[in-house]
Parts: sequence; C-alpha cells; structure tokens
Amino acid sequence: MKTEFSLAQLADPNIKEADKILRACVHCGFCTATCPTYVLLGDELDSPRGRIYLIKEMLEKNKPPTADVVKHIDRCLSCLACMTTCPSGVNYMHLVDQARVRIERDYSRPLPERLLRSVLAFVLPRPGLFRISMILAGLARPVAALLPTPAMSASSPGLLRRIKAMLALAPRGLPQPGPAGGTVFAPSGKRRGRVALLQGCAQQVLAPRINQAAINVLTRHGIEVVLVKDEQCCGALTHHMGQDEDALSRARANVTVWQREAERSGLDAILVTTSGCGTVVKDYGYLLREDREFAASAARISALTKDISEYLAGLELTPSTQNGDVTIAYHSACSLQHGQKIRELPKELLSKNGFVVKDVPESHLCCGSAGTYNILQPDIASRLRDRKVANIASVKPDMIAAGNIGCMVQIAGGTSVPVVHTIELLDWATGGPRPGLN
Ligand code: SF4
Ligand code: SF4
Repeated sequence: MKTEFSLAQLADPNIKEADKILRACVHCGFCTATCPTYVLLGDELDSPRGRIYLIKEMLEKNKPPTADVVKHIDRCLSCLACMTTCPSGVNYMHLVDQARVRIERDYSRPLPERLLRSVLAFVLPRPGLFRISMILAGLARPVAALLPTPAMSASSPGLLRRIKAMLALAPRGLPQPGPAGGTVFAPSGKRRGRVALLQGCAQQVLAPRINQAAINVLTRHGIEVVLVKDEQCCGALTHHMGQDEDALSRARANVTVWQREAERSGLDAILVTTSGCGTVVKDYGYLLREDREFAASAARISALTKDISEYLAGLELTPSTQNGDVTIAYHSACSLQHGQKIRELPKELLSKNGFVVKDVPESHLCCGSAGTYNILQPDIASRLRDRKVANIASVKPDMIAAGNIGCMVQIAGGTSVPVVHTIELLDWATGGPRPGLN
C-alpha cells in the first residue's frame, strides 16, 4: 500500500513503524473472510482492510478522527484473526494499537462514554476495587432485567445497554481471595525449576482456582512457584483502550519487580494463565522499545514469558486419573491462537493426559469477550457469544476448556456446560480435584 507521510512525520518512530506496516499491506482482502465483525456486519469498513485504510487516512492527515472512524475502530475486537490470515505479515496489532492511542488523545467521546471508560480503566486493574465493584454489581443484577435489551440497529450502544451488559457478567458470588503477592510455593521432591506466576487482576478476583491449579501442577512436578510482590496488572486493559501512559507505567513497574526477582533468586520463566495478559507481556519489549532505561530489560522479560501450556509441554506431566470418558470442547482464545500462535499445544496436553478433545467449528472466530469489548460493544459481543456457544454445542462436550478468563466468563454466560481452564483439567488429570463442580 502506498503511503504519503511527510519526512517530518516519519521522524516520529511510531509513524515510521505505522508506515512500515501499511506498506506491507497489498490490499488483497484475504483477511476479511476471517474477521468476526466483517462476517457479522458485512461492511468493508468493519473489516481489517477497511480499518487499515481508515487508520492510514487518520495518521497521514494528522487530524482528529471523525465519529465514523472511531465507530469502526471501536468495533474491532483486536482478536488478531486477520494477522493469522494475512499472507503479507501485516502487523495489524501494532497498527490498531496506535490508532486507539490516537483516538484517545485526539477524539472527544460523549460524556457518558468517557465516564464509563474512565471507571473501567480505574477499577478493573485494581483487584481490591474490582472485588468491591463485583459484589455491588452482583447485588444489582436484578435491576439488569429492567434495562433495555441490546439491539443491533444502534450504531453505538448507549450507556444503559452497556451497564446491562456489565451487570450480566457479574457473578452471583465471589470466591475467597487467593494467596498474596510475595508467597513462594515449594516444590514436592527435588526442585527442577523456579518460575513466577502472573497473578492477574480480574482473574484473581473471579477465579483464583485457576492459578491454584497451576501452582498444584507445577509444584507436583518439582517446580517452585513465586507470586512476585508488588506486581501490577499487566496493562492489557488500558492498553486496549488506548490509554498507553497507564499501560506503559504498569509495564515498567512489572519489568522492575520481575527483573529484581530474576536477579535475586533466579527465574526460568514468567508464566501466564490468562492469554490476553500473556500476549501483552510478550509484547513489553516492543512497547518499551524507545525507552532507553527499560528497552533491554523489557525485551528480556518478554523473552522469559510463557503461556502455562508452553511451559508444561516441556515438563512431561504424570497423569494419575483416567478421564477417557470426558469429552472436552477446546475453545481456542484469540489471544492464544492469533496473538501468541499457540494452537495445538493445549489440545495435545489435554489428549496426552487422557481427555477426549474436540475442535470447535469456526474456532478462528472470537467469542466476543475481548477485554472490555463485551461491555463496550454488547450487541456484537452477544451475537458472537451465541454463535460460539452454538458451535460448541455441536460437538456435545461434557466440559468446555479455555486458556483465558475473559473467554470463560463470556462463554459461561450462554451455556450450562461447565467452562473450565485448561490448567484445571491438567491439575485434575495429575491428582488434583475435579473442576467445574461449583
Ligand atoms: S490480508 Fe493482509 S495484505 Fe491482504 S488486505 Fe488484509 S492486511 Fe492487507
Ligand atoms: S483484530 Fe479481529 S475484529 Fe479487528 S480487524 Fe482483525 S480480525 Fe477484524
């Protein structure tokens, strides 16, 4: 694609990067076929190629984006299916990230939307506040029935419909909090390795059982696990809302504490059980590439970061439970399959450990969760969820497995089949409790 940036514009490293990405696009349109919003809405401007043109215009003209441009960029899930499909290697992720930062900086959203986004950006990365808000939201759930039902006709969902979507996602009760940062879990038997486990923010409030299962499996196989003190939210939530100052300061804080831990006691890996977070932590090196103080250490931290399934694949798990009669529908989270290119590993781990694993039809399509997307775009998100749940139902599973809490909550909202994390099944197979019973 031909670009027309001025030399002065190209002096900005972000524009230089955008120019490189845009020039790689040959506008073939292959990506449109696998883009969930194009599949649903059929509008070229809701396809990757259409959005790439909109972003090109916005950056080249260096003017505040119009409401129409913002609408189409906001509808993008950042699912990255387009990156998997693109034959030219266009890095859409880094391009749309820039567009979101530009929108956040140059576009004035209506006041209710600004307020909602500010609340989400402030509450979600803080587990203490998020816990309180979930308790309040759980109490307010009955009110949700009185609010308007999401309808596809509206170009931008109103505040009430978004609040309704938020209340619908709130759980009826919350589990006890998990262990605090700074806790170290000793391995059983001889120590074979030492890892940090990302504590996450929403996940540690909604489902601390997931990291508990990871700790069980790791320590059972000789790995010492540390929950690093003073670790923060990885920054994914605010990064995807274009609030990069917040996201980058969280990235720097995490790089600092993980680096310190690695130097003091050694770390073989930083493990992540929420693939949405893993994709961003693996990108810290890129995000902080222009930061002289942090660039090198951020790159090291990214290289050290692994999804839990990647690490377990090198461990040789020892199954102790026979699960041959349990059929699992494996939901491939977009951040895992498109963001981290991890497609087969989790399924192989489950099969090797005795489960019958079924692929879900249209597995490349997002479930609609996408961070805060299911709150900010409830209409599209609920259509994607219903489509995902129907596809899952077609393989008649006993349980659904996923590697990302966002997907788990989203899918669980549309089915009565238990939705569990892959690591919970591996914990069960290697001697832990059977998941999905509560
Ligand atoms: S598939 Fe890749 S090269 Fe083709 S239009 Fe999409 S982004 Fe551009
Ligand atoms: S990230 Fe997903 S929703 Fe956004 S353009 Fe690419 S395929 Fe479409």
